[in-house]
Amino acid sequence: MSLPIHQTLPGLCLYRKISLLLRSLGALAMLLAVGIPTAASSKSLVVSWLPDTVAAGSPCLFRVDAAGSIGSLRGDWMGHQITFFSSSGHHAWYGLAGVDVEAKPGSYKLSLEATLANGAVVHKQQIIVVHIGHYKTEKLTVPEKFVQPDAETLRRIEDEKKIKDAAFSHEIAEPEWSGKFIPPIDTAVSEGFGTRRTFNGKLASVHRGLDYHAKPGSPIRAANSGEVVLARELFYEGNCIIIDHGQQFYTLYMHLSHLEVSEGDNVEKGQEIGLSGATGRATGPHLHTAVRWQGAYLDPAQLWLLPLPQLPSTGQSQANSR
Ligand SMILES: [Zn+2]
Repeated sequence: MSLPIHQTLPGLCLYRKISLLLRSLGALAMLLAVGIPTAASSKSLVVSWLPDTVAAGSPCLFRVDAAGSIGSLRGDWMGHQITFFSSSGHHAWYGLAGVDVEAKPGSYKLSLEATLANGAVVHKQQIIVVHIGHYKTEKLTVPEKFVQPDAETLRRIEDEKKIKDAAFSHEIAEPEWSGKFIPPIDTAVSEGFGTRRTFNGKLASVHRGLDYHAKPGSPIRAANSGEVVLARELFYEGNCIIIDHGQQFYTLYMHLSHLEVSEGDNVEKGQEIGLSGATGRATGPHLHTAVRWQGAYLDPAQLWLLPLPQLPSTGQSQANSR
């Protein structure tokens, strides 16, 4: 912006010239006061994330490092709100989030709002590229006439949807997890996450979980610490457990033969929560496990690999700086 301080001001008395000059200098001072410190402050927030390549279905760990002390940090990511938490002296802040398996690839903005210890508010925006998720496609051919659930079953499915919605609206403000999530069983994967199933050439469903081979009666453990928000038999899921790990980050365990926890229980990472089975709509004995964050389904296999910080001790994340 050019200010008129170097222009000649014909036809004005000396007093008016000085007055205009002072007003111009005042405007310059205002610009310096408002514009430059804001730019410097947003630069003082350094954003990094894991995994390095974010794709549809990826869980993501966002890390924000600040030069000064931050009082609170919020983020906006693909229409979701993230409340960040700090684990070491309020300089490193973390947000566990993700990208839904059916999200479109493209460039998405992570918008941050930091409230500094001195009360000043700083904004920062970071573009993150979401790549296409490379998941398998399974072509199935079935008779055109699907067997429809009867009226009574449809009512049951509708009632169970409300029960699940209630479980997923459970709120825990702080993370309950600490460190890495672990696979609930040590067997081989029988079907990966994200497989697109087409029936008679039409996309019918996306596999929103990960299946493990599991002999009936195999012990199933909690992937991380949290609170059991659902533990009951459902039509499709069979005996099902949902654990809330805080901030609307859940893990799900389906088709169990036996439940060893109840709704409202607090569980520790690695704790046995039930035994595997083939209950509900399962083609055979296996464990279906799923990860859900604010309604988005994420790849459990990628979650097991994320080096998450220990809480509430000092943060040891290996997030790459950018
Ligand atoms: Zn499955």
